[in-house]
Amino acid sequence: MSSSFLSGKVFLLVTGASQGIGRQIAQSFAPLLGDDSSVLLIARNAGGLQETVNKLPRGLSVHTASIDLSTATAHKLKDVINKVLGAAGAMQFEKAVVVHNAASIGDLTKSTVAMTDFKIWQEYYDLNVFAPAVLNGVFMEIFNDYTKVVRLVINISSFNAIQPYEFMGYYCSGKAAREMFFKVFAIENPNVNVLNYSPGPVDTDMLHAVHTYTSEVKHEETKKFMKNRHVLTTEQTVTRLLEVLKLQKYKSGSHVDYYNN
Ligand code: NDP
Repeated sequence: MSSSFLSGKVFLLVTGASQGIGRQIAQSFAPLLGDDSSVLLIARNAGGLQETVNKLPRGLSVHTASIDLSTATAHKLKDVINKVLGAAGAMQFEKAVVVHNAASIGDLTKSTVAMTDFKIWQEYYDLNVFAPAVLNGVFMEIFNDYTKVVRLVINISSFNAIQPYEFMGYYCSGKAAREMFFKVFAIENPNVNVLNYSPGPVDTDMLHAVHTYTSEVKHEETKKFMKNRHVLTTEQTVTRLLEVLKLQKYKSGSHVDYYNN
């Protein structure tokens, strides 16, 4: 995969594209797509998705689907993608790119010993672990011929997939499980390019939610780390993501952080 990894006729799917990093991914990737490419943006907030669409180049075929990924079935996801593909189907595209970006932070007031409600665990994992796994399977089933379609899978991971933080048991364990899923997927599928990208601390609603609760943190190392972090803009982190993809120095499935060389 070279500098032209988004050239040609591409099908691009981005989850969590109604705001934050997902919106920026759509905005930064879209101008690089070749003629007749299609973009599918998924999130719950239809207004937010439309705002993202308004930031994309005119003339591009952009579709949105207002879906709650924590409850969407494989059948529903398949239907949404197939509707965008139309009669010409998946094989009209040279490349298929899926960005698993949507996520939630979880309840930041709970220490691990207080995380005793199965229902809350299940709801958290439905969105953050099971939904990307199911969507990925559906996507691969549709774009199933690697001799015709080059496939790129980007999981938006986190430093918290490898680094525990106090009061972030849902988020850290979810990010770790999700990243490991994509590592297994990568070794099972050597014909798919898989990247677990950790975007660094980025100025979005999610980071603001984390900051609201940092006063609760007593663990000195965590506190120090959070205080010293230089917050990035969405544009900075997505520009770095594009550079990582262009350079192709990573082994498929590996974790690449914004700050990695
Ligand atoms: P935001 O909270 O700004 O955006 C989250 C996105 O996920 C929104 O578009 C939201 O859309 C979507 N989403 C949430 N719940 C659902 C749902 N049930 N169904 C469908 N879509 C959903 O977060 P960020 O932009 O900061 O986060 C993007 C990614 O980056 C996440 O994977 C996050 O873990 C990761 N990350 C972020 C960091 C940061 O500092 N910001 C640091 C490390 C990783 P809607 O509400 O419309 O459904």
